[in-house]
Amino acid sequence: MPAVATPDLSQLEDPALRSVGEKVLRGERLEAADGRVLYATNDLLGLGLLADYANQERNGDRVFFSANQHLNPTNVCILRKTCTFCSFARLPREDGAYTRTLEEVFAEADIAKEMPTREFHIVGGLHPKLRLSYYTDMIRGLKERHPDMHIKALTAVEIAHLARIEKCSMEDVLVKLREAGLTSLPGGGAEVFSTAVRATIAERKLTGQEWIGVHRAAHALRIPTNCTMLYGHVETADDRIEHLSMLRELQDETGGFLTYIPLAYHPDHNELGEDLARIGTATTGYEDLKNIAVGRLFLDNIAHVKTHWPMVTPFLSQIALNFGCDDVEGTVVFERVYHDAGATTEMHLPYHGLVELIRNAGKRPVERDSLYERVREEFDDLTPPPTLRGRGLPVVHAA
Ligand code: SF4
Repeated sequence: MPAVATPDLSQLEDPALRSVGEKVLRGERLEAADGRVLYATNDLLGLGLLADYANQERNGDRVFFSANQHLNPTNVCILRKTCTFCSFARLPREDGAYTRTLEEVFAEADIAKEMPTREFHIVGGLHPKLRLSYYTDMIRGLKERHPDMHIKALTAVEIAHLARIEKCSMEDVLVKLREAGLTSLPGGGAEVFSTAVRATIAERKLTGQEWIGVHRAAHALRIPTNCTMLYGHVETADDRIEHLSMLRELQDETGGFLTYIPLAYHPDHNELGEDLARIGTATTGYEDLKNIAVGRLFLDNIAHVKTHWPMVTPFLSQIALNFGCDDVEGTVVFERVYHDAGATTEMHLPYHGLVELIRNAGKRPVERDSLYERVREEFDDLTPPPTLRGRGLPVVHAA
């Protein structure tokens, strides 16, 4: 890997950023006070310069992406009334509620045969009646139909919910899912760990410590996971720093996190957004880039930082590649969770579009699998695969 140019700290506009920059250049761990400086600075380009340096030291000019397909088997959720930031969930008899039969899930997943796909990303609501066997049968059926596919499935919140329904430990749930073919867990459900924030946005969800507990259990079973933070609602900079510190602490202990994904809150069609809209607090590109950069600098023990283009747009994701980010969310195909919350991006980014997005940012695209093993690095003979533009979503059954 070519040597990375050392940033000239005297060029940083914000003097407070210079002392943090010195730590970054020395490879020293940042403290909470440093995190406060990073969140407080208005020198966004200076912050980006430091984060880009930290990323390039680790990843060079490589940017990873995955050819994946999202599957959301149900939007029925028992926490529908208390996760005030969520636009995806429905009560069982509410308009728009759906629960897929396994055959419907398999039919939607068959689209993967028409394009390069390596991973199914499966998340949904906490359905009051779906048992663990629904998910193990789903994973087993998907593996039979697509043997080479990695399965990244079920957030910590869904794992804990299934353990409650089955009256068993979360370790038992994880082991059964792994036996069925599970590769890894996504990082959703973390939101912001602060008790005060959760009391406002996710009162009955797992506590921060419980979320950490599920991921600790997964790591002990050698199931790798991702981690996230939902920013841009009622949290403070201190809440964000506490959240990142908890992620970093678990990573020191287990080393089981693959990537960190800052997730931008979308205010449409949810109760929290109705309140926040009065004072206009949806996230901005400035905040989105800042959260990518701070994540890269603070989480010195997590290998990758991913930008989730369905939330922040492919255009901003491309800029994020020079603000500390080395990983772009994949082809996706059907994205429902953030589109229900007002995201106006396409649902699907074609494979060749992702390659071009990365190349046009001056970076080197690397297709990876769920475990960050390299799948493909040469794209000169790439022919655009079919897109789903204009194709309707599959029919779903009411819950
Ligand atoms: S955020 Fe998750 S747990 Fe909460 S209501 Fe939405 S789907 Fe359910």
